Amino acid sequence: MTDHIDAIDLHLIESPIRSARSHGSGHVKMSVQRVIVRVRTQDGLAGWGEAAPWAPFGNVAAGTMAVLATTLRPALLGRDPAAITARAADCAAAIAGHPEAKVAIDMALWDIAGKRAGLPVHALLGGAVRETIPLSFSIANPDFAADLERARELFAQGHRILKVKTGYLPHAQDLKRLEALRANLPELDLRVDYNQGLAPMDAIRTLRDIEAFRPTFIEQPVPRGQEAALAAITAALDTPVLADESVYSPDEMLRAARERLADCVSIKLMKAGGYGPARAIDAIASAAGMPSYGGTLWEGGIAAAAGAHLLAALPNCTLGCEFYMPSYALVRDICPDPLLAGGGVVRVPQGVGLGVEVDEAELAALAVAG
Ligand SMILES: [Mg+2]
Repeated sequence: MTDHIDAIDLHLIESPIRSARSHGSGHVKMSVQRVIVRVRTQDGLAGWGEAAPWAPFGNVAAGTMAVLATTLRPALLGRDPAAITARAADCAAAIAGHPEAKVAIDMALWDIAGKRAGLPVHALLGGAVRETIPLSFSIANPDFAADLERARELFAQGHRILKVKTGYLPHAQDLKRLEALRANLPELDLRVDYNQGLAPMDAIRTLRDIEAFRPTFIEQPVPRGQEAALAAITAALDTPVLADESVYSPDEMLRAARERLADCVSIKLMKAGGYGPARAIDAIASAAGMPSYGGTLWEGGIAAAAGAHLLAALPNCTLGCEFYMPSYALVRDICPDPLLAGGGVVRVPQGVGLGVEVDEAELAALAVAG
């Protein structure tokens, strides 16, 4: 007899973060909200999932909570948790959009599948092609002097990848920050992310100034919806362009490949809505000669672990990841950092399922009242 989903517990939590962040298209003050999901089965198994929506990407935690409670949970109760693809279809039929809510369910079901099999999730995805993933840290503190100090410390600890959030300050200040980073840390693998911050007009001339600092890539210079401008920038620049907000789904990846909107792509579970579409995006990107990068929103340990299992199993994901939130940004999380970040890498969890241990007292302590 097959197992069935008995209960889906939902927790809206708020975590303090270490410093304010400016990201061009959105500013984060001193805390972030997330939804933690626990799926429990009749066989006594439990799987954890996390939704970390961020308004610039279309959703907020309270809305995701409502979608899970009123729409996805009723569609899933009593169903077989092992039929993960069928459950994704149930979620797709229940509501359009809301990839963050859907991926929280998806990761909980993979966690259960791993626990049932006694294997880490990456083993169920075909096995790991890498055990560590190079870690990119983002320079996004409005206080740049503090960030430069942080960058020096990280470099001393072995970090080699930094991503600078550009486009929310005047261009001259972006150039100054890049100059300071290059002068202080010439060996950095430096990346630049506009988070949609440039208007298409004059973007190419602005970005030619940035190219002088030899960034590994320039991420999402213009807004989603301005794909013709994105393609023109990609054609004009020598520096690779990475698509983030312009590619959420496999069909958008197909367009990006066909129209050569970019040279590489950021894959985020929170955009894709599940392992199935995330792997499809990577397969299309790989066929188009576009390497992928492991992006994140304001994700804690559960989602970061889920991301690490995914990336571990994707040979095309050669640009590293930015899963620094659990260890470097969140002051408190509901589980110890499952990625053991340090020395410029994150480590792919080797425990069964997602390999996370949730502290239920901390889960209760971070709960948002109401
Ligand atoms: Mg980005």
